Amino acid sequence: VTRPSSPSAERVAALEAELARLRDKERMYRFSAELSARLVWSADPTGKLTFLDYPFVALTGMAQDGGLDAGWYGVVHPDDRAETMALWQQSIATGAAYLADFRVRRADGTYRLTRSRAVAVRDDKDAIRCWYGTTEDIEDEIRTEEARREAVERLRESEDMHRHTLEMSQQIAWTAEGDGSGLVMSARYEELTGRGGSQDAQLSIHEEDRDRVTATWAESLATGTPFAVGCRLEMKDGSYRSMRVRASPQRDDQGRVLRWYGVTEDVHDQELAERARRDVEARYRLAVQATNDAVWDYDIVQEAIDWSDNAGAIFGTGDAPVGRTSVGWWHERLHPEDRERVAESLRAAIAGTDTRWSASYRFRREDGSHADILDRGFIIRAPDGAALRAVGAMSDVTEQHRTQSEMRRMQAELIHVSRLSAMGTMASTLAHELNQPLTALSNFISGTRRLAEKPEVPREVLTEALGGAEAAAQRAGEILRRLRTLVSRGTVATVVDHLPQLVEEACVLAFIDAQALGIRHRLELDRTAIWVRADRIQIQQVIINLVRNAVEAMESSADREVVISTRAAAGSMIELSVADTGTGIAPDAIETLFSQFMTTKTGGMGIGLPISRTIIEAHGGKIWAENREEGGAVFRFTLPRAKRREIKPRL
Ligand code: ADP
Repeated sequence: VTRPSSPSAERVAALEAELARLRDKERMYRFSAELSARLVWSADPTGKLTFLDYPFVALTGMAQDGGLDAGWYGVVHPDDRAETMALWQQSIATGAAYLADFRVRRADGTYRLTRSRAVAVRDDKDAIRCWYGTTEDIEDEIRTEEARREAVERLRESEDMHRHTLEMSQQIAWTAEGDGSGLVMSARYEELTGRGGSQDAQLSIHEEDRDRVTATWAESLATGTPFAVGCRLEMKDGSYRSMRVRASPQRDDQGRVLRWYGVTEDVHDQELAERARRDVEARYRLAVQATNDAVWDYDIVQEAIDWSDNAGAIFGTGDAPVGRTSVGWWHERLHPEDRERVAESLRAAIAGTDTRWSASYRFRREDGSHADILDRGFIIRAPDGAALRAVGAMSDVTEQHRTQSEMRRMQAELIHVSRLSAMGTMASTLAHELNQPLTALSNFISGTRRLAEKPEVPREVLTEALGGAEAAAQRAGEILRRLRTLVSRGTVATVVDHLPQLVEEACVLAFIDAQALGIRHRLELDRTAIWVRADRIQIQQVIINLVRNAVEAMESSADREVVISTRAAAGSMIELSVADTGTGIAPDAIETLFSQFMTTKTGGMGIGLPISRTIIEAHGGKIWAENREEGGAVFRFTLPRAKRREIKPRL
């Protein structure tokens, strides 16, 4: 007999089924809550927690019922409590949805950030029946979120940095599809060229470069090899600048080209600088060739020398470059008499602190002859002072020396000739002057003979007469001797000399006809300015020149006087002056007197003063002329003062 189910039993079964369904649902719900680390709770309208699910225990270590009522409040981080409670109370009071983030203490004592939400459940009369809420752990989420934000920030920074670097380096960045289509240029391109990215990029490339660039690009596209090309780009203002364009392909796993990334870089200034450097180098090379200098670069550490290409010309080894040699190679070619001195001076310069070194020496050529070398170098040192390298140039001054000695020879010749010519013009005067003592001599001798024939004449008278003859003969001899010394070539050498004596000797010849011409002369010699370094004959020639000029300038003067004076001058010099009462010098001639062959005399040669200047300057002195206030001219020259010397008797 099947008894019909009692309604109550049916109801119980229905209820149980409903319960089972609910339990399943609840379990599912709880699992999902557990999976999502979310705990579920409910509260009454006054905010007291009436239900907390299992994860609360797992999360906080607190007994499940410990969290009920206001118990949960105990696991909220003390710093977050006030705010959390305020938010909760606010929702309770207004019925608005609750949302609060706060930290919850876990079983292990650490805090995790959680987010609680709750909504009010209302009855038919809209009164709040209860609250349903969830609390979830958002620590990881926030951490991840923060990490993501940071990553994005870093990415943006790095992008910024790249963008700034690109901008600073004036580079245009660009990218294109694997097949070269879809070219995208950075904003810099438009800034520079004035052309928008959508316009044909080729248009900015210089017409002459365009085909080459296109062909190279096509080849890179076809082969997938990096693209590099130089070209000129037209700028906004119509000018062209040199650019270097480069691009590399980005490939996928199979090696297929996905994209091209490129930069176009302004190398205009760089190129100009490079060209300038090449120009300088070329100029320097040409200059080196032009000077005939053998330029060397001495590697002190390696003990090796690199020679300039033209060095072979000096060394007589022909046109083939000398290249690199050992130091010994150079050393061995130094003239034996110079070798030790030169090698030692270089050694000393390198060991010391000098940065410059120079030496003159003879250097053996390939054919065995010697070149006169002037060698100058610059020593390059490490910060600690150790010499690393020296660079320099060997100048071949053989020819120069030859010309110089030739010049000196010719000058000596000229000085000699001028002396002869001066003597020539003085010859008749000299003859006349010699005539005087000779006439006097013959007069004395014939007179003495007459006296000697008379026995009554005392011997003393005879002796006196003979003395006069002797003096006249001596005077004639003196004139001849001076003349011979002056005219003879002799060797040119400066010695320490006694200036007053030198002047007095010169005056014997210079004033030879003075008396006849009605000329007075006076010497005002400073007895403290005595010793000079001079070539006696040459300085006497200068004095004679000056005195003869003075004498000639006074021809038409009423008062005729020459004063020769000496005095100490600045800079360890002694000054000698010859002053006259003649016509003086035309003011416009004063400057050129000594440098041009200028004469105001018929039969004059105008070489006296230039020669005098040559002689004085060769002695290290100066010569100049002034007009005197009281009329007439004064010529002055200086000679270097010398240290005192024992007077050697002359004559
Ligand atoms: P020269 O005596 O053969 O003319 P110089 O070179 O000795 O050659 O002199 C050049 C010129 O300088 C003279 O012609 C003269 O005009 C001028 N001169 C030289 N010394 C004097 C002087 N003491 N007074 C005036 N003029 C002078």
